[in-house]
Order: sequence, then structure tokens, then C-alpha cells
Amino acid sequence: MMMEKKPVIAIVGGGQLGLMIAREAHDLGADVAVLDPSPDAPAFAAADRHVVGAYDDIDALERLCEGSDVVTYEFENVPGEVLRHIDGKYNIKQGIAPLYDSQDRLREKANARIHGLRTPDFIPVPALDFMTPEDGTEAFHGNPEFPVPMTARDAASLDGKERRSQLKQAVKSLGMPCVLKTRTLGYDGHGQAVIREDSDIEEAADLLKVPCILEKFVDFDYEASVVMVSDGKKTIHFPIGMNIHTDGILDLSIVPAPGLSDNLVENGTGARIAGACEAFMKSCGYKGILAIELFIKGDDFYFNEMAPRPHNSGHYTIEGCSTNQYRELCRFLLGKPLEEPRLLAPTVMKNILGQDLDAAKAIVAESLEGAGPGVSVSDPDDVDNAFCGQAGPGVFVHLYGKSQSRPKRKMGHITFTPMTLGEFDRQWAGRFV
Ligand code: AMP
Repeated sequence: MMMEKKPVIAIVGGGQLGLMIAREAHDLGADVAVLDPSPDAPAFAAADRHVVGAYDDIDALERLCEGSDVVTYEFENVPGEVLRHIDGKYNIKQGIAPLYDSQDRLREKANARIHGLRTPDFIPVPALDFMTPEDGTEAFHGNPEFPVPMTARDAASLDGKERRSQLKQAVKSLGMPCVLKTRTLGYDGHGQAVIREDSDIEEAADLLKVPCILEKFVDFDYEASVVMVSDGKKTIHFPIGMNIHTDGILDLSIVPAPGLSDNLVENGTGARIAGACEAFMKSCGYKGILAIELFIKGDDFYFNEMAPRPHNSGHYTIEGCSTNQYRELCRFLLGKPLEEPRLLAPTVMKNILGQDLDAAKAIVAESLEGAGPGVSVSDPDDVDNAFCGQAGPGVFVHLYGKSQSRPKRKMGHITFTPMTLGEFDRQWAGRFV
């Protein structure tokens, strides 16, 4: 009897998100091919085939995509121009628009506004009369409210004095406090400076060696995120979590976000936020997965940024929900009907950065020694490498198997469920640095 060929999902990017996509893809009966520049990328361990190559290496991308049924990305800085080369030739089911729109903070925020989401006030820096219309920012074309911003060449041509003067002018027109951010390639708080007083301008102006955006500082109550998956007809969203960052990096996700839900069912504000985010996704015509990060202030909410890939704050869905973000992305990619997720119980996700790794390993080791209920790993040596298992009741440890650990590097995460923030603080917070 002929074996039916399994569908193949090609993933651009082999980090932990790729690893978790690969596991769910296998569960749904698909094979996975992964491209990553690093020979020991975490997702390679779960891939059926892998390619070591740079994201802008067209040959490597071709080798990844050949024989695939569908292509996705788990890393948002894949150069949009490079994906254009394979768009049409291979099935990038999510399209490249959400990726392109998210790669420039100015384009991203302008797009959010155009499609109905409120953002903090923002302006491009330097001022518009410094700019030339040649960087292909299509979202702005034909829209008089968002003239074409400056190019990298324009920015590089400014000397220190001009940078300071441009920034002063922008700060004056927007008002303090405000945040200066590089338009591209910023992440986890890199490439940003908060300006609270005139004396902050000098140092912040250094960022203007590349094009920037100046945003009004939002004195938010907390940060939250919504992960959605859409197949064009049906859109689902995962329960909204509150995100706590430390030094600009996600530390904890607490679900449900306090005040946004009542007995695990979203209340008025939560439903309003989810409704607005789903309407945004529909209005943009995006399909696939989209995570939106928000600032919550009383009953108001502001779009901060988006990512067209599974999101760190959605790790909790693996054990905390009836279906998870990776699985629903795979369902979309494989043309299967989406499932509406349900939160099973209050959940806390703790990111394990390099500085938390020893604590995480100790939690696993202790549970192995005690052989308590729910421990599901047989080989303690696993603890030094990739590890995915339960370390006691309601404690789910994921170590990604990255060969080098360093402070602030995302090495794993632990999901505690059922668990509230108060319980986490009393029982677990003291274990971490
Ligand atoms: P981002 O890279 O834009 O997500 O920014 C990193 C972090 O900086 C966010 O998670 C916020 O904690 C903070 N931040 C960014 N933009 C603003 C803003 N406009 N107002 C207040 N805080 C901000």
C-alpha cells in the first residue's frame, strides 16, 4: 500500500518558537523543515530536515522551501525583500504583508491607526523636511497624514549637532516624557531612550544615527498581549495576559490579566480589546497568527507593537488553554478548522533567562529526586539540555536546549497552572534571581 505523503511545513527561523511549532506540527501529522543561521538552533532537534544558512541567503531559503507545502516564519526580522523572492513561488500562506508592516515601527504604528487601533502619539525624527521619498514605505503612499519618512542614508548624513537639534524640535512638539526608538531592528528594549527632561536629549540623540520614531510616554497601568489566529473566515483569540517586563524583557505573563476578565470569561474591557484587535486584523486582511502588545490605562488601551508569529507571552497556552498558539498556527497552515481556545485555569508563565537557568534546573532535579506525582521525565541528564516535562503538579518546565547560556538570553520557560500571581509570589518568586 502506498504511504500517503505527509504535508511539510517549512519554518524560517529555528529558535524556541520554531521548536514549539515543530512539536505541534508533528502532533497534527506534518513534517517540518527549518532554516537557521546557527548550526545548533533549538528547533533543529525537532525538525525532519534542516538548513543552516543566513536569512538573507536566497539559495538557503530555496533549499528550505523546496518540497514544502507551506512556509511560515518564527522570526520577524527576516528581510521582507528576501521573502519577496520566494513569495508566489512557494506557499507563504500568511503572506509577507504582516511581516513587512511590523518591521518598521513608524509603518507599524501608522498602519495600526489607519486600521482603527489607538496608539501613543508619535512623530518620525528627524522632521519630515529632511526626508526623501524613496524607501518604499507603501503604507504611507496616498495617505497625507503619514508622509514618507526619512531613509537610512538621510539619517547617516546628520552630524551630532543636527541630531540634537532635530530631536529637541521633535520633543518640543510632542512634549515630555517621551520615548525615542529606532524604527527598525529594536527588540526587548534595545534601541530606545526615555526622555523625561532636557538633559536626556544629549544621550538619546545618539540613536538618530538611524531613522527613529518619537512616541509619547504612556503612563500605563500594565502591559498586555492578545494572540490571534485567523483563516480569513474565522478569527480566534487566546485569553489576554498581563505581561511584566524586567529590563525591557518579558519576565512573567499572568493570565487572565487582572481586571480584563471575570471568572476566566472576558469581561467588558477584555471583550472590547479582543474585538478591536480582531477588527484590526480583519481590516488589514492579515491571515495566520498575529500577536499584539498593548498598554492598558484604566479603560483605555494603546497599540504598542505587533508580531506575525507565535509570541513569548503565548507560551502559557500550551498547558493553560484547551488548545495552544502553536497548534492553531499549524491548523491554519495545514488548512484545518481553527479551534476556539478556552483558559483551563489561572496561569503564570515565568521566562527562564540565563540568570534563571540554575534555578529552573534545580526545580526539575528536586522533582526527580522526590519522584513526586506528575513527574514525566526518565533521564535526569536531559535536564542539562533540552527538557520538556512536568516537574511536580502543575509545574511545566520547558528548557530549549540552547548550547550557550548568558544573562538575559531566553533559555526556557516554566508554566505554573493553576496559579495566580499572588500564589506565584508566595511559592515561587523567591527561587529566581
Ligand atoms: P517595545 O520594544 O516598543 O515593546 O518597548 C519595550 C518596552 O518599553 C515596553 O514593553 C514598555 O515597557 C516600554 N515602552 C515602550 N514604549 C513606551 C511608551 N510609549 N510609553 C511607555 N513605555 C513604553
